[in-house]
Amino acid sequence: MAADTVPAVETAARAASIREEFPILGIEAHGRRLAYLDNAATTQKPREVIDAIAGYYTTSNANVHRGVHLLSERATAAFEGARDDVAAYFGAAHRHEIIFTRNATEGINLVAQSWGGRHLAAGDEVLISAMEHHSNIVPWQLACERTGAVLKVVPIDDRGALDMEAFGRLLGPRTKIVAMTQLSNALGTVTPMAEIIRAAHDAGAVVLVDGAQAAYHLPVHVQALGADFYVATGHKLYGPTGIGVLYGREALLDAMPPYQGGGDMIASVTFEKSTWNTLPYKFEAGTPHIEGAVGLGAATRFIRRIGFDWIAAHEADLLAYATAAVSAVPGVRLVGTAPVKASIVSFVMDGVHPHDIGTVVDRMGVAIRTGHHCAQPVMARFGVPATARASLAMYNTREDIDQLVDALHDVRRVFA
Ligand SMILES: *Cc1c(COP(=O)(O)O)cnc(C)c1O
Repeated sequence: MAADTVPAVETAARAASIREEFPILGIEAHGRRLAYLDNAATTQKPREVIDAIAGYYTTSNANVHRGVHLLSERATAAFEGARDDVAAYFGAAHRHEIIFTRNATEGINLVAQSWGGRHLAAGDEVLISAMEHHSNIVPWQLACERTGAVLKVVPIDDRGALDMEAFGRLLGPRTKIVAMTQLSNALGTVTPMAEIIRAAHDAGAVVLVDGAQAAYHLPVHVQALGADFYVATGHKLYGPTGIGVLYGREALLDAMPPYQGGGDMIASVTFEKSTWNTLPYKFEAGTPHIEGAVGLGAATRFIRRIGFDWIAAHEADLLAYATAAVSAVPGVRLVGTAPVKASIVSFVMDGVHPHDIGTVVDRMGVAIRTGHHCAQPVMARFGVPATARASLAMYNTREDIDQLVDALHDVRRVFA
């Protein structure tokens, strides 16, 4: 993005001060400064998110929606206030279009089961891409098994970019839904989502966007994007685990049957028949993850305070720096070199198993991920069993990258 509009020195100083807002980044790992570069798996939490959760338990804890006492009213206000924060963050037209889930995975399962159960039939097609996370593959395989629909996969090229020509060919009158990532967690590829959505809508299909990665690296506005469904996960958004978001357009959500039954999702219950609550509660059965929503609301306010103008510019600068530095290490080959990328450097090293890379750099205080990154088809596409992956967040600095690169030189010394 606008990487050249923010002077590098100013960016570095700001990143260093943002790092201070994340208490855990001050700890030592094996006696070294911690370089946390496993953000695509989960991000660390700023002090104000931690404080919001502690504050909720010290001033407001009660069950939501049903109580008339002071604490229940506070808890309900905190929980529903978080929904307002999240709706604003994603640019939803209505707060009731935001459904709290456990994570991105549950959001996709909800749509695959509830929407898929109603709208998919034998011969229909579900279109995904070859770089999806398992969470955006398996729920659709299950839905296809149940309904007789067919899963189609848009290929990616040798750089890891989506093959848009193939997408155009595979998209057709049988396509009922396109479910695709906006940012690949294994490759860092950013997909041309606005274009994908326009084409899908022209073909009469709806679109689910897997925003688990994109939502903390890029500004997301679901209405501007035209998304029908958008899923995200709290723990990557600098918020807590166990809370996720499903955005759905009101008309679609209204026409969908419940996903799970239980308390809070009903309007009335008799043994003969139950009727459903209005949105969003129809899809929120049982006591929700109140503290999780409160923490996520605080996280979205935190991210908006820092702002995507700065975040995107800083991360783009850091990605360019990391890409050059890591690929200059002897024997290293990058996996995922699409022209439009964000935040992820996935790589392999000649003669060294990725797991060994991860173990050696850990001793140097550097946290990276090694493995298939829940994207085994991507590994198969590139003919590798696994990669090592460094993934960036707003609090990373060039110092983190330098520490990684030094550690990679150690890996070479150990295994050469
Ligand atoms: C992390 C991730 C998911 C799954 O997120 P959960 O929090 O595990 O549900 C899905 N898709 C992508 C692209 C991811 O990076």
